[in-house]
Amino acid sequence: MFGIISQEKNKRRGLLATKSGEINTPFFMPDATRGLVKSLGKDDLESIGVGPMVVNTYHLYLEPGVDLIRKAGGINKFMNWPYSLLSDSGGYQVFSLIHKNPKLGKITSDKVVFRSPLNGTLHELTPEKSIQIQFDLDVDMMVALDDCPPNNYPKEKIKASVERTIKWAQRCKAEYEKQLAKRNIKDDRRPLIFGVIQGGEHLDLRKYCAEELIKIGWDGLGFGARHHDEKGNFMEDLLEFTANLIPQNYLRFALGVGTPQDIIRCINFGWDMFDCVIPTREGRHGRIFIRKGELSSVIASEAKQPLNNKKEIATSLTAPRNDNLFYETININNEKFKTDFTPVDKNCDCELCRSYSRAYLHHLFAVEEPLAMRLASIHNLKFYLDLMRSI
Ligand SMILES: [Zn+2]
Repeated sequence: MFGIISQEKNKRRGLLATKSGEINTPFFMPDATRGLVKSLGKDDLESIGVGPMVVNTYHLYLEPGVDLIRKAGGINKFMNWPYSLLSDSGGYQVFSLIHKNPKLGKITSDKVVFRSPLNGTLHELTPEKSIQIQFDLDVDMMVALDDCPPNNYPKEKIKASVERTIKWAQRCKAEYEKQLAKRNIKDDRRPLIFGVIQGGEHLDLRKYCAEELIKIGWDGLGFGARHHDEKGNFMEDLLEFTANLIPQNYLRFALGVGTPQDIIRCINFGWDMFDCVIPTREGRHGRIFIRKGELSSVIASEAKQPLNNKKEIATSLTAPRNDNLFYETININNEKFKTDFTPVDKNCDCELCRSYSRAYLHHLFAVEEPLAMRLASIHNLKFYLDLMRSI
């Protein structure tokens, strides 16, 4: 279902077949958390070449509920999205909810119990239930339920979460096989399944977790937990180390990564799949990615930096965003754009940049017009997709 087409050191290009179609790797998935990309319709997404996207099991389970999505014929039909969809396990949201407010739920060795923040009703998430929900959503790719503690937990707590992640992964995989048989799903129609490597910032725990997960068998493995340290620096050594723990024939999913330069770094380490809210969330707040020229040429020079230059690159990555090579971000709300009648990004041909000036977009944000969010989201997503195509 996944084959590598070409490889240069750790960086690789491949082809992935899912039941909804083929995907070139590496690829970026916009987050359609609640079954939608905020303020964008299907035509908007197709016009900029969006393919695979991520939906969120936890949010869809709470609203509109899995029964309704099953009645609609699955999440693809409900959204009218003909391309691949990946659902996460729902664990990250439930764990974040409980870590932020322990009164809202409890994590035991067997399951997570939590209260819906929507209406206070009590719910239970087990590894089996997470897999059943994802089969009911009828996605192309699913993720096993893992235990994701904050990185700053003491090591023994992280170790306990790794043990739980491994046990839950075994239960998820067993339930996955059971559901395939029960639903009579043939091999060419089966959803792909991913495990998630936990272990915080501890290399020994990451290694142990990966080795135990590989014994279970997956289509791919993901990087769990945060990828920035407490100072906000991207932990590229940890991402490189973890990529090397994953077998060549597995897909490597860098969950939640990231900024454009983090994605480029991770691709150089051999990661294949990315998802992040940055392009759309930043866009809705008026922060716009601007190319500093043709993406393909500047990215080629960025990627060619020698590896012994790594520390220098790491330092430059922590510098303010506008110091990197191939793009800058502007805040269109800034007063200086009020009378700037130039195109938003002269190197972009999206709906926003073809039709409107910076001054007009500034005005749309100033009067809180929903069109502003739509146009900015279209532009930022196209920037990300063009970036992936250039790479
Ligand atoms: Zn544009």
